[in-house]
Amino acid sequence: MVNVTSFKTARSEEIFTAAQKLMPGGVSSPVRAFKSVGGQPIVFDRVKGAYIWDVDGNQYIDYVGTWGPAICGHAHPEVIAALHEALEKGTSFGAPSFQENTLAEMVIEAVPSIEMVRFVNSGTEACMSVLRLMRAFTGRDKIIKFEGCYHGHADMFLVKAGSGVATLGLPDSPGVPKDTTSNTLTAPYNDLEAVKALFAENPDQISGVILEPVVGNAGFIPPDAGFLEGLRELTSENGALLVFDEVMTGFRIAYGGAQEKFGVTPDLTTLGKVIGGGLPVGAYGGRRDIMALVAPSGPMYQAGTLSGNPLAMTAGIKTLELLQKPGTYEYLDRITKRLIDGLLKAAQEEGHAVYGGQISGMFGMFFTGDPVHDYEDAKKSDLAKFSRFHRGMLERGVYLAPSQFEAGFTSLAHTDEDVDRTIQAAREVLSGL
Ligand SMILES: *Cc1c(COP(=O)(O)O)cnc(C)c1O
Repeated sequence: MVNVTSFKTARSEEIFTAAQKLMPGGVSSPVRAFKSVGGQPIVFDRVKGAYIWDVDGNQYIDYVGTWGPAICGHAHPEVIAALHEALEKGTSFGAPSFQENTLAEMVIEAVPSIEMVRFVNSGTEACMSVLRLMRAFTGRDKIIKFEGCYHGHADMFLVKAGSGVATLGLPDSPGVPKDTTSNTLTAPYNDLEAVKALFAENPDQISGVILEPVVGNAGFIPPDAGFLEGLRELTSENGALLVFDEVMTGFRIAYGGAQEKFGVTPDLTTLGKVIGGGLPVGAYGGRRDIMALVAPSGPMYQAGTLSGNPLAMTAGIKTLELLQKPGTYEYLDRITKRLIDGLLKAAQEEGHAVYGGQISGMFGMFFTGDPVHDYEDAKKSDLAKFSRFHRGMLERGVYLAPSQFEAGFTSLAHTDEDVDRTIQAAREVLSGL
């Protein structure tokens, strides 16, 4: 672990400065640029278990886990070994492979709503495809999404979106035609009355409701009691579909995702992150009668050159196998609860108003004393304070997501000692904020 005096960033700065001339903002995805927390990003050299090493040789305890996929710890030896074996047979087939069957069976077995599945290459692709499917199945164009929820960067979802859009404070994105988003209706998260009103104002026009069943892209916001159940009822009553975007929560907050955890079964589900085990995979699936519409079984077109890639399938299969071992989710829950309880306690004892929580290996802490039930509440967080906290933690060898509007993640590789060191670092930083 780094101590403040040995923290060096010369090499990271050199690489990032060069990157800014080569790629917009110097990155391949916006939040990585550290814009909202200030300072320059660190440039990674390698990852292993719960740790990151940067190009200056600093070591960090990692609570981003490549945004969720590293749930078994980075570069798990069994995942790496399986990948080596798969690699010998080639990197891409563009044709059916047995690995797709294996991962499909595992996903169908695990996720209550999924009877059939289609693999794609990212969460964005999964969400844009599921939206097409919602419309194809219902013959209706409108959808309801929630403020602060992120469903990838497809046009129709860039309305009051979370993640990088929230981090950068972008209301919408230029380049998205009004016609495209005119069918996207939004409601505050956890607000059933608002959803009810939208259904009343748009009779027989709404194809469905899509949401993060636990929000991770506006910071960590769990659903209020009855919210998911209420959406299930409202969608069914109105002939609309309920879609859980479990790209983040799938295989993370329980093996079967939020739908297993909360006992509410949607019609369709999107997956990503964990199911790729660190390689690019997304998926959408659900009721067999709906999935039957997807080409070539049905008329709804959707395709992908690298979809079902044997390496990506292999990493996903091995990761899910590791997660099936007894006690994994209990471990994630215990270690993460210890972490967030310790952080909240340290913050309160140092005189800061904070609000936070966790479910399994997903957590978050806002710098506001008021409860956070939706994106408006999340925005009350003291962002300047969060930035100073983030930088202080970085200098002490703890890598947190570089935005207040992102959840944190633990892994099976995080130990009690890592958590203790993190809380100790936090106490030091918080005492000086
Ligand atoms: C990350 C995420 C996406 C987008 O996935 P990408 O693989 O980044 O395209 C969509 N929905 C949710 C809930 C996510 O967390």
